[in-house]
Amino acid sequence: MKKLALHWKIIIGMVLGVVYGLIANQLGWVDFTNDWIKPWGKIFVNLLKLIAVPLVFASLIKGVASLSDISKLSRIGGKTIAIYLVSTVIAVTIGLLLVNTVKPGEGFDKDSISKTEQIEEGANKKIKAAENVKDGGPLQFLVDIVPTNIFDAASNNRNMLQVIFFAILFGIALVMIPNEKTTYVKGFFDGINDIILQIVDIIMMAAPYGVFALLGGLVVDFGASAELFISLAKYSVTVIVGLLLMILVVYPLILKIFTKMKYKDFFKGIMPAQMLAFSTSSSAATLPVTMERCEDHLGVSEEVSSFVLPLGATINMDGTSLYQAVAAVFIAQAFGYSLGLTDQLTIVLTATLASIGAAAVPGAGMIMLIIVLGSIPTLPSDIIAPGLALIFGVDRILDMMRTVVNVTGDATVATVVASTEGKLKEVTEEELMS
Ligand code: ASP
Repeated sequence: MKKLALHWKIIIGMVLGVVYGLIANQLGWVDFTNDWIKPWGKIFVNLLKLIAVPLVFASLIKGVASLSDISKLSRIGGKTIAIYLVSTVIAVTIGLLLVNTVKPGEGFDKDSISKTEQIEEGANKKIKAAENVKDGGPLQFLVDIVPTNIFDAASNNRNMLQVIFFAILFGIALVMIPNEKTTYVKGFFDGINDIILQIVDIIMMAAPYGVFALLGGLVVDFGASAELFISLAKYSVTVIVGLLLMILVVYPLILKIFTKMKYKDFFKGIMPAQMLAFSTSSSAATLPVTMERCEDHLGVSEEVSSFVLPLGATINMDGTSLYQAVAAVFIAQAFGYSLGLTDQLTIVLTATLASIGAAAVPGAGMIMLIIVLGSIPTLPSDIIAPGLALIFGVDRILDMMRTVVNVTGDATVATVVASTEGKLKEVTEEELMS
């Protein structure tokens, strides 16, 4: 019998997880789910996070070291960052066009949504987190990229940019030293890299079970929020339509213009990573799988993927920026403010920067939304807290969806950069499907 492709197994896991969650909700199995199902989801996510730092480290060093000259690195780097920026601005613009056309917040009865204490508390927590981000001058982000201690940096997945910085520096130095002195070091990182990719394969065998537990647990958590989702349906649907446009129109167009890859093939190759992005709501946790899929199943060379993807997971979030644009205007509309051109342009700028600054973890986009809201000239700051509380209930489900777009965007750019650099190899049908 033909073996079922991984993405089918994951889809089955997801569907069964949702079905389980619905049944568990009906039968009141909340404690059982919390005690016996959810931990498996957490273990699965932990496993993915566990290998993120070593993977980025080893593959980036290997990738940089295999570039024969450093000028290539700056060319690939420049290209990558430019495409990331353009795709983010496209995403924000789509978000703004949609929300200004659909106007989901106009005539919205904001008092119709009963806010629980939990929601208020959650919104306030996000505001506190945003205050920490805001401290520091305009160059703070550069200061934050340069670690003072590599072990310190490597001990926290949130410091991925610092790890990337050190790995690139290490790789560059490696290239500058005569070959005979670095043979062993290169061999060492080569070996480590292969071992870690093998670990990714092992972890992926557990993916169908992992997503079952993650989604089962989430549906039990959501329980009461179905009602909330309906009352915020117009807003949620606006975000979702925008995200779909990115996946179904913008990325296929980009791939068509810059590569020879058929979107169907791209989609098949990247699908398992998209499903993990959906189930974990974290581009960082998904990163090892995104890298493995791009290299082994889409044919992106390691030199490109090892640089483009970790960077993308941290700074390229098209889904997040689109969501921020829609959410910011929705909140303004719901509170009766109409935003002029200056306000909208401010959103383009701040949502782009905010998505770059957002950590690749669940809920990070909402923290940065506070900064977007705070920068819109027409909006008074006292609507930030009630505005967040308004959309808080549906944020997790939208987070799951925007993370899919974030990951797809990274993979698209990796494919484009690889193709334009002549580093995209043809893949066989079997590699695509496995
Ligand atoms: N969860 C998103 C990610 O990891 C970030 C966000 O929008 O909250 O890509």
